[in-house]
Amino acid sequence: MTFLEIDLKKLEFNYHSIRKRLKSQTKIIGVIKANAYGSASGAIAEKLISLGVEALAVSYASEGIELRQLGIKAPILVFYPQVDCFKDIIDHNLEPVLYSKRSWEKWVAESRKTKKSIPPIHIKYNTGLNRIGFQPDEVHWVLEQLKNSTFEVKSIYTHLGQTEYPKPDSVTSNQISLFEQIIEKHKAHSSRSVAYHLLNTSGLFNYPEHQMDWVRIGIGFYGYANRAEWNQSLKPIVTLKTHITQIHELKSGDTVGYNSGWKASKNTRIAVLPLGHADGFSRQYGQGKGWVLIDGQKAPVVGNVCMDMVMVEIGDIACIEGSEVMILGEGIRADALAEASGTISYELLTALGKRIPRVIKQ
Ligand SMILES: *Cc1c(COP(=O)(O)O)cnc(C)c1O
Repeated sequence: MTFLEIDLKKLEFNYHSIRKRLKSQTKIIGVIKANAYGSASGAIAEKLISLGVEALAVSYASEGIELRQLGIKAPILVFYPQVDCFKDIIDHNLEPVLYSKRSWEKWVAESRKTKKSIPPIHIKYNTGLNRIGFQPDEVHWVLEQLKNSTFEVKSIYTHLGQTEYPKPDSVTSNQISLFEQIIEKHKAHSSRSVAYHLLNTSGLFNYPEHQMDWVRIGIGFYGYANRAEWNQSLKPIVTLKTHITQIHELKSGDTVGYNSGWKASKNTRIAVLPLGHADGFSRQYGQGKGWVLIDGQKAPVVGNVCMDMVMVEIGDIACIEGSEVMILGEGIRADALAEASGTISYELLTALGKRIPRVIKQ
């Protein structure tokens, strides 16, 4: 049996650790996209709201709708709304981020069609990441639209591309100064109060002086901050455990898994675990790159990870069929396992599949 334990006490610890870094007036958007980074967005949303997070954010409208259906009443930003979902966004009182002329115009059209009240909007600028956002030279166009619009603009923001890099970092400084120029133009145009923001988790750790009105915290709440010294003030909130399904005694020369992915160079033992790439335990962790802990000892993944199962070499580690196996948690961090396999904690965590039962520890 495999299960993912989500420890809300640790989430609370991380929340306070992050809140301590903020000025008293700075607000937090709790980012719970991708099922709260692979954990359980409903439970995380409720806990973050009860702790005092001022708003939540998801990536797509469908994620916001799910939270509304769970009864979450807090403001929810939709970071990457697709224009065909604008009706859903209005119907569920979600707050869209508008990021291009096309998204603006579709939003205007959709809001004219409805009799419902129009939720507040957020405006995103692209200052160098070249993902989504209005170009800095489109600020005049945006200001022109705002003149004739009755939309409530709640916030204006940009997203930085490498906040974890050591300071000073010219790419980040350029992004920040571009954004500051955009802010000046908005402020000169209107005295209406709007919130500005640009920091994610490692942004807050690295550039607390630029926290502005809001920060957007994702990975930090889940216990990671992209640098060892920052990680120390956080606790990973998920523990992924399973139990050995079967043990095999192998002779030197025996092979393991599809395509004979691994060959024993001595007599040894392997354990078969009920978890595979369909659960997010990617093939990237195969071929000895990943490992698990059994009885506190490292057991490397051997051969290719299968869809539903994975094999690890246990040699003479004390264990029997049914013994507990630690995949993520005490003694084994998502960022370490990810790095050893050429990815990052974000990918590892968000890939954790639906099939794994979630257990919420209050
Ligand atoms: C995901 C996301 C965040 C959160 O980033 P973390 O590094 O997880 O804190 C913030 N802002 C935007 C726009 C995002 O897409």
